[in-house]
Amino acid sequence: GGAAEPPPRLVLDLERLAQVPSEKAGPLQRYAATIQSQRGDYNGKVLSIRQDDLRTLAVIYDQPASLLVDQLISWGVLDPDARRAVREDDS
Ligand code: C2E
Ligand code: C2E
Ligand code: C2E
Repeated sequence: GGAAEPPPRLVLDLERLAQVPSEKAGPLQRYAATIQSQRGDYNGKVLSIRQDDLRTLAVIYDQPASLLVDQLISWGVLDPDARRAVREDDS
């Protein structure tokens, strides 16, 4: 059910992200910095990203998107509601 529900917004907490050791978070830290630079959006504490960017990041991390989302939630970088972004549309 719930097909009409919109996907959750994917809002990265940039302060939390900066605190995660870069051996783990490095690729995501660089990806987020690139988006900020392309937008000219430098001063935010958070960054809204595209649903498509989650798929790209799953490829970069060589993990299913659902596992990546769980990891970002465990770091406090994504809100737990973000899990809905992958549950509906697992590919
Ligand atoms: P683009 O994809 O050709 O988008 C051009 C402009 O359209 C963006 O300029 C923005 O003003 C608007 N735009 C496109 N999609 C959206 C959207 O979903 N929401 C909103 N609010 N506006 C949208 P902007 O922001 O200066 O970005 C310039 C370029 O930087 C984009 O060109 C894209 O190539 C890249 N970029 C920016 N943010 C993202 C992102 O979150 N993910 C990805 N993959 N690329 C991004
Ligand atoms: P929201 O999407 O819930 O965002 C709440 C606040 O989080 C924003 O307040 C802003 O301070 C911050 N925020 C979210 N995403 C980003 C980001 O990518 N970069 C930065 N620097 N800050 C971000 P703000 O700007 O006062 O916007 C209030 C509300 O107005 C937003 O709530 C949203 O509903 C709407 N809004 C603002 N900009 C856009 C936009 O580009 N597209 C759409 N569709 N709505 C927007
Ligand atoms: P948003 O601005 O509220 O946009 C919500 C959704 O509307 C986007 O989800 C996308 O499906 C569609 N959309 C909005 N503007 C455009 C557009 O210019 N072209 C196209 N093709 N679709 C558009 P999505 O892609 O998952 O993005 C989620 C949020 O990420 C956006 O919420 C916005 O806050 C941010 N975002 C994504 N791309 C850009 C970008 O290029 N520039 C900026 N400034 N913000 C972006």
